[in-house]
Amino acid sequence: MLEKVLIANRGEIALRILRACKELGIKTVAVHSKVDAALKHVKLADEAICIGPNPSVQSYLNVPAIISAMEITGAEGVHPGYGFLAENADFAEQVEKSGFVFIGPTADTIRVMGDKVAAIKAMKSAGVPTVPGSDGPLTDDPTLLRQIANRIGYPVIIKAAAGGGGRGMRVVEEESALINAISITKTEAAAAFGDGTVYMEKFLQNPRHVEVQVLADGQGHAIHLGDRDCSLQRRHQKVLEEAPAPGIPEDARQAVFASCVNACIQINYRGAGTFEFLYEDGHFYFIEMNTRVQVEHPVSEMITGVDIVKEQLLIASGHKLSFKQEDIIFRGHSFECRINAEDPENFMPQPGTIEAYHAPGGNGIRVDSHIYNGYRVPPNYDSLIGKVITYGQDRETALSRMRIALDEMVIEGIKTNIPLHENLVRDSAFQKGGVNIHYLEKKLGL
Ligand code: ADP
Repeated sequence: MLEKVLIANRGEIALRILRACKELGIKTVAVHSKVDAALKHVKLADEAICIGPNPSVQSYLNVPAIISAMEITGAEGVHPGYGFLAENADFAEQVEKSGFVFIGPTADTIRVMGDKVAAIKAMKSAGVPTVPGSDGPLTDDPTLLRQIANRIGYPVIIKAAAGGGGRGMRVVEEESALINAISITKTEAAAAFGDGTVYMEKFLQNPRHVEVQVLADGQGHAIHLGDRDCSLQRRHQKVLEEAPAPGIPEDARQAVFASCVNACIQINYRGAGTFEFLYEDGHFYFIEMNTRVQVEHPVSEMITGVDIVKEQLLIASGHKLSFKQEDIIFRGHSFECRINAEDPENFMPQPGTIEAYHAPGGNGIRVDSHIYNGYRVPPNYDSLIGKVITYGQDRETALSRMRIALDEMVIEGIKTNIPLHENLVRDSAFQKGGVNIHYLEKKLGL
């Protein structure tokens, strides 16, 4: 078992990782920027080191500082959480080269999955259903490009192979706009991601975002923990998630689960991962794989009883998976509301001091948050300040518990998006289940 783990992250996920380490008897090292010295996990960790000034590039993205912190403290492994360095293959490689354990997949796996063209190719050959597309990077030959688009059928979407965070994409409705759109996307991708490679896919008009959680040990074993629906998004950012995804035919779900597990075994995947799909008219279409723990992982934990972060730590310690697929019993339903320090009307970030905080509680309520009375939300990072997660034996119970929890929750001193969530959990289409990825923006009049 790893004896000491450095947590290369901040906020709620750093605290989540710290708690899992404690349960396993692993010592913890917190690293933080100057402004983050008062973070809850920094106070609770066995050791804490300031690794730099507030800007993430100088602290949470500062690879030499993090590796030095591991050397100084004698940490054996590093958990990257999500965001920051979590999907940075060079970081994973440097960690391993320095003789430490990266808690996640190998650098090679991260590299393949970080290149969407390579990822789609790997998944397609492993039998995962993909979006009809160019099956590779686009060339400069206009005749060939028109042929590809005609074969796929308009509308198509041009996407950057190195894209992320919902950036580097352009929809093309008709042939006359095709060549120009490709060249603009290439130029933008080269500027934004340092790689101008683009590819083409069928643009699905009204899909849902449904993803599959997997765990694999890199020793020939892999399982899935079911699906999550994350269709409620604003600007490609997830807002409210649930598990399982409602209203999907059981045979379609089981087929996609099997293909994900099979793909993990084929690529010898190690750690926790998520296969993201668009789902439309009974079909799943793979769009990308996230090679890390995700913000919304708790909803899968609630319906399976598996602690995903503990499993990550066990796998990184060289253990085989603790579960076989038949050990995983799916029970009930779970929702997660992401609580952001932002104005619920215009979505502007709201840094500032939390004057009063009261977390909701009761049966089936879980709150993953690092905030406390008097905590100051800094302006430097993501606005996520916590997650309210509910569980119920069925969807309606879990949703009604969410309504009660949100009404009970008090955060004073800064504005949060709790009013938006209070509205969403009472929305009739959402209550019915199965809204598509455009629903939230339409509702907000965007
Ligand atoms: P990123 O890595 O930037 O998140 P994704 O490939 O996951 O990029 O796509 C982000 C979002 O863009 C999806 O959740 C979906 O809303 C939209 N999108 C991507 N590909 C398609 C497609 N082929 N058809 C329709 N929408 C798409």
